[in-house]
Amino acid sequence: MIQKSNRLHNVFYEIRGPVFEKAMELELQGYKITRLNIGNPAPFGFDAPDEIIHDVIINLRRAQGYTESKGLFAARKAVMHDCQRKGIADVKIDDIYIGNGVSELILLSMQALLNNDDEILIPAPDYPLWTASVNLAGGKAVHYLCDEAADWFPDLEDLESKITPRTKGLVVINPNNPTGAVYSEDVLRRIVAIAERHNLIIFSDEIYDRILYDDAVHYSPAAFSSDILFLTFSGLSKNYRAAGFRAGWMIVSGAKHRAKSYIEGLTALSSMRLCSNVPSQFAIQTALGGYQSINELVMPNGRLRKQRDACYEKLISIPGITCVKPKGAFYLFPKLDVQKFNIKDDMQFALDLLEDQHILIVHGTGFNWPYPDHFRIVYLPTVEELNATLAKMALFLKDYEGI
Ligand code: PLP
Repeated sequence: MIQKSNRLHNVFYEIRGPVFEKAMELELQGYKITRLNIGNPAPFGFDAPDEIIHDVIINLRRAQGYTESKGLFAARKAVMHDCQRKGIADVKIDDIYIGNGVSELILLSMQALLNNDDEILIPAPDYPLWTASVNLAGGKAVHYLCDEAADWFPDLEDLESKITPRTKGLVVINPNNPTGAVYSEDVLRRIVAIAERHNLIIFSDEIYDRILYDDAVHYSPAAFSSDILFLTFSGLSKNYRAAGFRAGWMIVSGAKHRAKSYIEGLTALSSMRLCSNVPSQFAIQTALGGYQSINELVMPNGRLRKQRDACYEKLISIPGITCVKPKGAFYLFPKLDVQKFNIKDDMQFALDLLEDQHILIVHGTGFNWPYPDHFRIVYLPTVEELNATLAKMALFLKDYEGI
């Protein structure tokens, strides 16, 4: 028998896990599955801005060769300028790495850092690639709780209590996937203060930083200190609806002088994969410097905002479901009354919903949430489709009794 490596024993990515595989099987049998499982805007009619597509097309001939490993100068320069908007000081061209999406850079940041059993603090619930990347690199993912009763903000006491001599860094996902929380300046400053006290690296995943509703304002923790090291991540997948281009970036800032060896590691790993996908690197400068069409989607009459409101209202009208209204990104993370529905295994719940109603969601434990009482829903479909799908979900839940 050919076995997978031991390193993979603790590595999971349930967003495309067994429930997703079952959905693909049902699609092959001819069923139409409503996919509320993946944050992939393009298939739902959210096109990337024309000027970005245009840039890729006209530069295609110039995109045949490798670029520098860290990426095209013009793309990195644009990211460098964007650091001004974010308030991140002292960022040079060399501090910026372009990758095949943020995903590749998350993996790289952990591979370059961790020795066996080094610990990284990760929010629960999380975007599960963070946990998977830490485990794959031989480290230990330690989860700190986010508090649903406090708008899903991180529980700072829990976070600090989990720091040990082996803790190397902490991850902040803001705006958050899966909860949609957008953290206040105060909570971020307090996280930075904790990291300063314990000399931890902050990994700040800001891939949804322009998808904000109501009065939400986005702050980058890297703007609040130069005493610790920060790695800040963003990209084209969400704000610019170009997930298939696979373009993201990572900004190294703060106490770089104390991280020479780690930075050498990051650079070595980025060189070994030669460079990221070149045609889409040409889109980055225009994306960051151009007209920010995402604003039209999140304003009061914007499509995303209307879908968020409709999805939220419909969900909370279902007996046995409660939900915190999200302020960013395009997900809801509703809570199920597990007593009422007798749910002990949330993956089974997701499978039952899929098989019965052909609705595909992701169960909460897939986001390293410790209890089987949540699920994530993506509100990218139109209001009409969301209403019809949630009406089916309401009917399903009316008689649902888990096993
Ligand atoms: N980080 C978060 C929080 C995400 O939700 C996602 C994708 O859903 C990613 C990173 C990966 O993004 P990319 O497409 O840039 O690899």
